[in-house]
Amino acid sequence: MQELLFTGSELAERPARDSENSPYRDLRELYESAKTCTKCALSTTRRNFVFGEGNPTARLVVIGEAPGADEDALGRPFVGRSGQLLDKILMAVGFRREEVFICNILKCRPPQNRNPLPGEIECCLPWLLQQLELIDPCMLLLLGRVAANSLLDNNLSLGAMRGKIIRWKRFDCVVTYHPAALLRNPNWKRGCWEDVQMMRSHYDALPGTTNNP
Ligand code: URA
Repeated sequence: MQELLFTGSELAERPARDSENSPYRDLRELYESAKTCTKCALSTTRRNFVFGEGNPTARLVVIGEAPGADEDALGRPFVGRSGQLLDKILMAVGFRREEVFICNILKCRPPQNRNPLPGEIECCLPWLLQQLELIDPCMLLLLGRVAANSLLDNNLSLGAMRGKIIRWKRFDCVVTYHPAALLRNPNWKRGCWEDVQMMRSHYDALPGTTNNP
């Protein structure tokens, strides 16, 4: 399990990028290689491979769990009701959708939107890790417990991961509610608001972001 290296708003020194040795030149090349993936059985039920979209040099990458029906139909992440709410959450703290990169742990829809299986996560994570290598963001926003547990390789509750900056590899991560959970439980929106405000303050203090060119 990865340790949570620091909490609170202090700025930890960022380790150097550990490799410039991605086998892919850019996201386009990664996409061309990934889109025909057959590493797990979801490749037999998907309509579209949902790679993710946004700014290829984003400083913030937003990571959800897996495509739903709308995303599977269109081949784009977060385009259904959850996506509309996500856009509003990002806008509330001054991020336009085009400015960030949005993707998921799984690139293919699990049937009936069931939770990802461990074997599916294992097959799919290398695509996400390559995306992060090429985009090289400073911050990650992890939406929901499944996304956070899968990436951070822990089994912590959402409550244990919210409200702090979690350093994982080179990335400062914020964990908050999944928008679909907020649609079911609107009284959790205040907590999400606090999480994304904390994320914005931390982001603005990082070198290479809006206030710190
Ligand atoms: N839920 C997710 O986790 N990802 C999407 O892309 C859409 C809904």
